[in-house]
Parts: sequence; structure tokens; C-alpha cells
Amino acid sequence: MSKKRLATVWLGGCSGCHMSFLDLDERLLDLAELADVCYTPIADVKEFPHNVDITLVEGAVANEDHLRDAKKIRERSGILVAFGDCAITGNVTALRNLFNVEDVLSRAYRDSMIVGGVPEGDGIVPKLLEKVLRLQDVVAVDYFLPGCPPPADVIFQFVVDLIGGKTPAVTGRKFGS
Ligand code: SF4
Repeated sequence: MSKKRLATVWLGGCSGCHMSFLDLDERLLDLAELADVCYTPIADVKEFPHNVDITLVEGAVANEDHLRDAKKIRERSGILVAFGDCAITGNVTALRNLFNVEDVLSRAYRDSMIVGGVPEGDGIVPKLLEKVLRLQDVVAVDYFLPGCPPPADVIFQFVVDLIGGKTPAVTGRKFGS
């Protein structure tokens, strides 16, 4: 059986989902037997490749770069997974939806006096969307892998199932139990 092409993407998230992915530890070697990781923020690959079999997307869609990238990634991926609660619900990233986007920028760049104003110019700070969006608000999502972050054991079984052509079963403690 040929190896699957696996990608992981970091949009509007804290990178905690990727830290949990790295918590696979020695099982990363098992995963490497089953799949080639062709794109990930952990490696220095600049352009999202074509013909990716499975892509895990961490984070919500918070700015115009995320929006453009989510659409490109969808086009180039066979299976797209919303990886973690920020991608699925907006979660922490969407807390800024409680505020006007100009107020958010002012708070971050002007009031804090970190850089003395909102940076301007192409390619410096991507334009924020008026509202943070869930991944499924902008592209079709095939699977959802919940958690903040999803535990490494769950990630491993989920990805191995997908590689094996199975529908992953995400199980865990029910709310309130
Ligand atoms: S789901 Fe949690 S761990 Fe993952 S990016 Fe969002 S805040 Fe970070």
C-alpha cells in the first residue's frame, strides 16, 4: 500500500493542537511508516502542495490570509479535518467577536504601546475579518477532531483510522459525567 500524504496547517490558533500532535512522541515514527508528512508548520515548507490525502487544520479563520489559505487547502486536500476546538467552534480565537475589530486592533497595537500603532503595508499584518469564523463556515469539512487540544492518543487513533480508510470514532467523557 502506498503511503498517504498527510498535512497539518496552523491558522488562527495557539499552536496547542500542534503541540499535542508532537506529544505523539515515538508514535511519530509509527506514523511515518504510514504517511509522508508533506506540509506542516513544524517543517519549513512554504507552499501548500497539491494532492494531499489528509489535512488537519488547527485554528479558526481570523484574517484574510487564513481565508485564502483555507480555500486553497480545501482544493488540494482529499480529506479535510477541523483539528481542535478553535477550528470547530471558534473557541478562544473567537472571543474577540465580542468586540469591534477596530477596538481589538487599538487595544493590541495602540493602547499596549508595543509598536506604537497598527502596522501598515502589504504583507506585514494580514487584515482581520470582521468576525472570526469556524472552518466549516468557509469550506466543506469532512471530519471534526474536538478538544482543546485533542489528546495525543486521540489524534493518533484518529489519523491511523483515516489512513486505513476507516471512519474515525472519537470517544471520551460525556459532558456532565
Ligand atoms: S483548540 Fe485549544 S489548543 Fe487548539 S489552537 Fe485552540 S486554544 Fe489552542
